Amino acid sequence: MSSAAGFLPERTTLRAMRQAVQGCRGCDLYRDATQAVFGEGPDDARVVLVGEQPGDNEDVVGRPFVGPAGGLLDRAIEEAGLSRDDVYITNVVKHFRFVLRGKRRIHKKPDMEQIRACTPWLEAELARVGPEALVLLGATASQAFLGRSFRVTQQRGAFVESPLAPLVTATIHPSSILRADTDEDRRVAFEGFVRDLAMVERALKSRAS
Ligand code: SF4
Repeated sequence: MSSAAGFLPERTTLRAMRQAVQGCRGCDLYRDATQAVFGEGPDDARVVLVGEQPGDNEDVVGRPFVGPAGGLLDRAIEEAGLSRDDVYITNVVKHFRFVLRGKRRIHKKPDMEQIRACTPWLEAELARVGPEALVLLGATASQAFLGRSFRVTQQRGAFVESPLAPLVTATIHPSSILRADTDEDRRVAFEGFVRDLAMVERALKSRAS
């Protein structure tokens, strides 16, 4: 079975993993992507946000959430009262999966085997950062960790029992806000996203007090 497990460095510091992930051959996704995109943020972050996989921009730049969805995420983090210094951002899968349409690279959801293969990186990131709150963004990240029957649209915005972190919750992926049909739909979706993140911020505050 494909797995990234054999590619993790001996000492799983974020720095060592960020270098080692470039040599990962744990599944076939490294072949067409420009580079692996590892998580970013402090190693003592109180919150870890997990998306699906790097997008076209992220693949080129080598950093997570730098495209339009990343801009929305930054705004939402701020409006929710969280500090970027408290947040570590990463993805379930570290290489960009896409299909070519002409010259355009169109996002393609990673399959279960690729998600499973890549999970050791995220597990090692979580073990290293040890966040108080884990926020899964979108269906792929949520189902990878909370089971395939988890429905983000119905179960978002509430904490679920999980050994992954003291506070675990799921919400939409910011890219889904960008895909909304109208400006009004986008506004409503963004407000809901901020509301879910603000719930995390309040829970962190009450843990600290
Ligand atoms: S997607 Fe994950 S498991 Fe697959 S090659 Fe990239 S880092 Fe390794």
